[in-house]
Amino acid sequence: MDLQNFIGGEFKPSLSNDWIDILEPSTGCKFARVPNSSRGDVDLAVSSARSAFPMWAGLESSERADWLDKIGDALESNYDKIATTESRDTGKPITLARQVDANRSVMNFRFFAQMIRERRSETFEMSDAKNFVSYNPVGVGALITPWNLPLYLLSWKVAPAIGMGNTVVCKPSELTPMTANLLMETINSVGLPPGVVNLIHGNGEGAGHDLVAHRDVNLVSFTGGTATGAKVASVAAPHFKKLSLELGGKNSSIVFADCSLEATVSGVTRSAFLNQGQVCLCGSRILVEREIYNDFTNRLVQSVKQLKIGDPGHEETELGALISKDHLMKVMRYVDIAAEEGGEFLTGGHKNMYPQLERRFSDGYWMNPTVISGLSVDSRCSTEEIFGPIVTIHPFDDEEQAIEIANNTNYGLAGSVWTEDLEKGRRVAERIRTGIMWVNTWLHRDLRTPFGGVGDSGIGREGGRWSLDFFSEPLNVCILDKDNQ
Ligand code: NDP
Repeated sequence: MDLQNFIGGEFKPSLSNDWIDILEPSTGCKFARVPNSSRGDVDLAVSSARSAFPMWAGLESSERADWLDKIGDALESNYDKIATTESRDTGKPITLARQVDANRSVMNFRFFAQMIRERRSETFEMSDAKNFVSYNPVGVGALITPWNLPLYLLSWKVAPAIGMGNTVVCKPSELTPMTANLLMETINSVGLPPGVVNLIHGNGEGAGHDLVAHRDVNLVSFTGGTATGAKVASVAAPHFKKLSLELGGKNSSIVFADCSLEATVSGVTRSAFLNQGQVCLCGSRILVEREIYNDFTNRLVQSVKQLKIGDPGHEETELGALISKDHLMKVMRYVDIAAEEGGEFLTGGHKNMYPQLERRFSDGYWMNPTVISGLSVDSRCSTEEIFGPIVTIHPFDDEEQAIEIANNTNYGLAGSVWTEDLEKGRRVAERIRTGIMWVNTWLHRDLRTPFGGVGDSGIGREGGRWSLDFFSEPLNVCILDKDNQ
């Protein structure tokens, strides 16, 4: 299957004759190709978005909200297809692809449609004048997304961006382009005006870079790794493009002795290994109060050993494959690093690295979930983002020490605290240098709340009104009231 770019409301062959193979992570087999788009393709896509901008920006916001609902409805009718495509393209379990990816992609369009309908302009009265604040679209947006939650994250950007009157060019990860293509088919099927949403395939260093650098792109919303984020910022910042960077994380799960043990073991296991640990919010450092450290660790190990790893298409599967061979090698390198740093493997590790699977998965990118104890809190494994099924576990003695360890990283995206003392939970959560904290839960999202990180985890927030703010420019008009002078 050869995918094409989507430009000006049409699927178009790329100007380049260069192709990238798409491999199924669970088997390593090739099943599609995408064009490795050239600068010429990027020019066409940006020019199409630029041409559509005046008409689209001129619509009433309620008309644009209606379009978002239409896209959401059409996506919902493809719910099963989204889930099966995403599961195949990413290697994640089908149940996860349904619950998280398919659900949220539909919800993102509906949620922002509603928010945009409810948004009111603001006024600020003075004794002799009145200020009117309105929110104008920014222009053409570049939306760049990673491979771990492909459609979930793309729809999270497309919906508020076009809802606020911008036109966009999307660049999905070259590793997982299938559901982005499905979104373009959906957009085409509902008859969205040509040029409002465009998509180019290709690798990040080429098409991604050219898109960010393009002089007619006014804003860049980027989700991906911290090192790539730095490159994107260095290209966008000198041109004062509006920039949102949602980057990596090294999140802590802080477990106090007074937690509800069973629920905490299950919650921390989920937070560590959902999507094979390939969620930016995953809790990959587990900090446990010393009083229950041994008991908790034993229970966690039992819980992790029970996770069902295997065919992503099976209903009972809980862990699938990692995204690519390169990524698997990178993650496995941390097993070597942990061994060099003196870690003890409680599950996984060199002796138990690979799961026993059917033969057809023998060329896929698999590894067992790995829990490592005995590492220093300064070790590379406990401070660097691994983004795979590896967690480290550490004891702590009191609140202060837990906070200190949790803050012992340049990242600051998310985290969780587990305790029956909710005041303590909130007190500790508020002292973590990060963007989002959960108490006694994880990945519990209210889409109205801000989402994003600090430090190496990025700049800016998306979600709810923060997305609407990012994808618009406020304009203040101050009118003198002569009668009240
Ligand atoms: P990458 O940074 O490698 O890639 C992200 C996107 O950027 C891809 O579409 C990639 O294209 C593109 N890209 C690569 N280089 C450039 C460039 N020079 N200019 C413009 N675009 C470029 O991240 P991954 O895809 O590997 O995703 C994993 C990372 O994403 C992890 O660090 C994870 O924490 C983070 N992430 C953060 C989230 C958050 O909300 N904070 C959510 C999800 C993931 P291509 O793949 O084609 O090279």
